[in-house]
Amino acid sequence: MQKYSIHNEEKVKEFLKENKFPPFRYNQIENAIYKNFVTDFNEIQTIPKDLREKLDENFFYSTLIIDTQKTSANWQTTKTLYKTETGEYIESVIMRHKTGRVTLCVSCQAGCPMACSFCATGKLGLLKNLETYEIVEQIINAAKMLHEEEGNTLRNIVYMWMGEPMLNYDNVKESIIVATTQKKLDLSNRRVTVSTCGIIPWIDKFRDDFPQNSLAVSLHAPNDEVRKSIMPVDHTYPLADLMKSLDEYTDKTNKRIFYEYIMINGVNDHPKLADELGKLLQWRLAHVNFIPYNAWEGTNSDGYTTTPKIIIDRFQKTLLEKYNVVSTVRMTMWDDIDAACGQLANKKEGSEK
Ligand code: SAH
Repeated sequence: MQKYSIHNEEKVKEFLKENKFPPFRYNQIENAIYKNFVTDFNEIQTIPKDLREKLDENFFYSTLIIDTQKTSANWQTTKTLYKTETGEYIESVIMRHKTGRVTLCVSCQAGCPMACSFCATGKLGLLKNLETYEIVEQIINAAKMLHEEEGNTLRNIVYMWMGEPMLNYDNVKESIIVATTQKKLDLSNRRVTVSTCGIIPWIDKFRDDFPQNSLAVSLHAPNDEVRKSIMPVDHTYPLADLMKSLDEYTDKTNKRIFYEYIMINGVNDHPKLADELGKLLQWRLAHVNFIPYNAWEGTNSDGYTTTPKIIIDRFQKTLLEKYNVVSTVRMTMWDDIDAACGQLANKKEGSEK
């Protein structure tokens, strides 16, 4: 018999109806799973024993197996490597900020088809789109761990680890709904951020479905020439079209967009690009997030290195002083637990093939 994920609300409700359990049983199950983090249906004390047994027969709680979990020496980051039931490896990262705020970075695909030149995950190609429950399980595992081991509450999620969220849109959408539904994980929509390399039709869809959520765009260059050289997606969706769609996004949502800009030495960090970036963003609702390039094994052939801090500082100064564009530099907090996005999974996939 095919089992379904307990996170599939529609299936659980259908099952309750077919088995003549009253609808309020759903609220009790929901409460146990998302508020009390019960992992074993037999431990849901509020529902009758026959329902507990039937749930066990018809639904599963979790499919992801934790392969490795590493916390950085400074305790700011915990990276979890999961194995899916179909055998692929994916990662999630918990980032603890000094303010006490915690952010979970989730994967939405195993591997990624976008092939950005600097990205470890991109080297894998697309292995598969994650199921809704595989995304939800990453979120609930982190929320449970933070709650039980650290007395903390997960309040921020970014879809910024492995994969391109807009290419697994329906499952990403369902997982956002689980994260933000009040009776489930109850995160505020604006604290759930989706990051895309710029797939226009899906950005438009995201804008209509989730006008309250936050959007990050991996820009990485202020013109097509440089952008094409590091991000193949720019051939399909060039910058002018992307900016047009992002302008419609801000018009409709009135929300600031986070522009991510990786800093790769000698590739996209020329001072004249700071001016181009400033001109591109100066009249837009924008916040730039500089990400110093994280070196990982395998890119050495491309010869990429990280931009020195002093050049990043100058970029920031140009943006602010000449163009009034605000920016921050994302600290790389996970250096001692394998630097780049997708690196652990990449190693695993590599070693098993
Ligand atoms: N596909 C989505 C989200 C995944 S990547 C996107 O493109 O936005 C999350 C961010 O990490 C992206 O901005 C990506 O470009 C960046 N990134 C990838 N590899 C990196 C590396 N080696 N060093 C620094 N940032 C990297």
